[in-house]
Amino acid sequence: MMGGVIVLGSLNIDLVTEVPRLPRPGETVAGGDLRRHPGGKGANQAVAAARAGARVRMVGACGADDGGELVLGALVEEGVDVAGVRRLPDVPTGTATILVEQGGENMIAIGPGANAHWDDGDAPAALHGVTDGDVLLLQLEVPAAVTLAAARVARRRGATVVLNAAPLHTAVPGLLDDVDVLVVNEHEVRAASGVEDGDPTVLARDLAAGASLDVVVTLGARGAVLCGADGREEHVTAPAVEARDTVGAGDTFAGYLAAALAEGRDHSYAVRRAVTAASLAVTRLGAQTAIPRVEDLPPITH
Ligand code: ADP
Repeated sequence: MMGGVIVLGSLNIDLVTEVPRLPRPGETVAGGDLRRHPGGKGANQAVAAARAGARVRMVGACGADDGGELVLGALVEEGVDVAGVRRLPDVPTGTATILVEQGGENMIAIGPGANAHWDDGDAPAALHGVTDGDVLLLQLEVPAAVTLAAARVARRRGATVVLNAAPLHTAVPGLLDDVDVLVVNEHEVRAASGVEDGDPTVLARDLAAGASLDVVVTLGARGAVLCGADGREEHVTAPAVEARDTVGAGDTFAGYLAAALAEGRDHSYAVRRAVTAASLAVTRLGAQTAIPRVEDLPPITH
């Protein structure tokens, strides 16, 4: 039976200015015209799961402002159910202010806005209808306490809990207690392990065994590695592509992975499809605009 994907997380407006080089503290540089795009890890991953073919519900909060209209409109266009997104009258929609240098280096400042406004009962109430077969997809752009509460409720209801622990800078106690699949990049697996360096695969292996969950580490151009709670390990290489813009690659990966699990696919297949989709996303510009549709993907070999 096919379940749905419920994404609980952030909705942002990305405010992007291209600059010839990033300014130093106190310095002003002239750049291109400001561009506004729908974004936020939660919303991006909801779009990715929808383009992967899943039935998707978004749970989150945005302002009753034009930023909220923009980010909600983008979700509705993809067929995402946004009934679980609260519109807050007195707080702005979250923003990411982004400077992008020629060559791709960037600086980002997040204004959480509505993403930081949650009451204790919001997450449990929004997850009321979640059932086994469903997949709850979480990130860390809403308060950690909300993420933990959501994981607990969904697990109790028999759903599969996928946590893309991004962004993550230091280990958070209890973070993995109710998680079935952890998705992290090389920096985040170190943060989750509480170490500053170390081989990502070795760290993932230890995390998977210690916390009894499946850990997927994305390795950029090298693809991803899946370390199972049962000790199995699988490396999935990424196809060689000409990378133009890696923004949104991680979100494409997480959304595609969750969609495959909701389809009832095994973790190995889910990682293969996520690698294929994310590698296509890096050949395209932008965050949500770069996320491919499932019909654009080459067949996934097993
Ligand atoms: P993040 O952007 O979250 O740090 P990664 O850089 O690990 O995540 O990229 C996520 C996924 O995107 C990878 O697992 C891979 O499938 C794809 N990817 C990223 N960079 C490249 C690249 N240069 N070539 C091919 N695929 C890439």
